[in-house]
Amino acid sequence: MLFRQLWDPDSFTYTYLLADEDDGQALLIDPVREQVPRDVQLLRELGLRLVYALETHVHADHVTGGGELRKLLGCQLVVGARSGVRTADIRVGDGDSIRFGRHVIEARETPGHTNGCVTYVSHEAGMAFTGDALLIRGCGRTDFQQGDARVLYESVRKKILSLPGATRLYPGHDYRGLTVTTVAEERRFNFRLGDAKTIDEFVGVMNNLRLAYPQRMDEAVPANLASGVTEPEPVGPVTTEAGAWAPVQRTASGVAVVPTTWVAEHLGEVRLVDVREHFEFRGPHGHIAGADLVPLADLEERARTWQRSAPLVTVCTYGTRSGKAAQLLEQRGFSRVASLHGGMMRWLEEGRPAVDVMRDRAPQDAATWLGMDI
Ligand code: FE
Repeated sequence: MLFRQLWDPDSFTYTYLLADEDDGQALLIDPVREQVPRDVQLLRELGLRLVYALETHVHADHVTGGGELRKLLGCQLVVGARSGVRTADIRVGDGDSIRFGRHVIEARETPGHTNGCVTYVSHEAGMAFTGDALLIRGCGRTDFQQGDARVLYESVRKKILSLPGATRLYPGHDYRGLTVTTVAEERRFNFRLGDAKTIDEFVGVMNNLRLAYPQRMDEAVPANLASGVTEPEPVGPVTTEAGAWAPVQRTASGVAVVPTTWVAEHLGEVRLVDVREHFEFRGPHGHIAGADLVPLADLEERARTWQRSAPLVTVCTYGTRSGKAAQLLEQRGFSRVASLHGGMMRWLEEGRPAVDVMRDRAPQDAATWLGMDI
């Protein structure tokens, strides 16, 4: 069985790729929306066909890539039966199996962090993917999203730490750089849920953590209940000052944005700077013809020699990175800069032309683009 552990540096989320190397069927556990182009590229390079995207739970700290992967690759979305996600294709309960090629993953309901938490177990490989129910030397919090410390204690003890001691445990996150642990290790060293802790001690610890409210919770939870398919951040009124170069609006976080309609009508008159990576530019969502590719990491250096008063619109997939880019350029003295609101996603959803787009092609064409046989 092919196995890859992938990491999202913004949310410290681990995504796991499992595949049958013979027939190429693959699944991803907990994909992150911002990392979809990376995941698609990796699947393509390895010659894999994504059949399932699995969620361990409704996340509060990042938006899932599941919905986008389904659109791009036609995979099915798998969630816990009690997760509340209505946009999924398959809802798994205790003991249900997910098959890919010759391999089987067993779902085990492990509520407590959220109601719908699921741990996915590969008995043949001796691996379990615990989401946030059990973290390395810790566990997910229990103070929001139906969290319940007593329930979590029972879940972890009965469904995860009851597996054979050598079972490797892969968490949903790690904030210290650890990647994997084992059942035996956690029973011994997990200071919250190890063998030495009673349920009352655990509940006492969890009820006194006083953690900060998760930064992206208000955005992430509703988005994840819809499998990550969402609208961009709402905007305020259009700028009306005399001489305004474009109908610029500000989002709640202060990012200057322009609507896709205006950009479409002014192609050729305004400079488009696409701030994604090379493989995304030519990747599944393509790019707008005539856009310059300047990855966000290179933008500050490259922009030093640019004309600061020329109209400029930044572009990325969803508008997050292009928003950061627009803010950075404004801070550097650019007076006519804004981000394409809704990014390439909105641009494509509106049926506007782009180069190198894979989206909305027939599955056979998508497979051809990915360089594989279905
Ligand atoms: Fe979580």
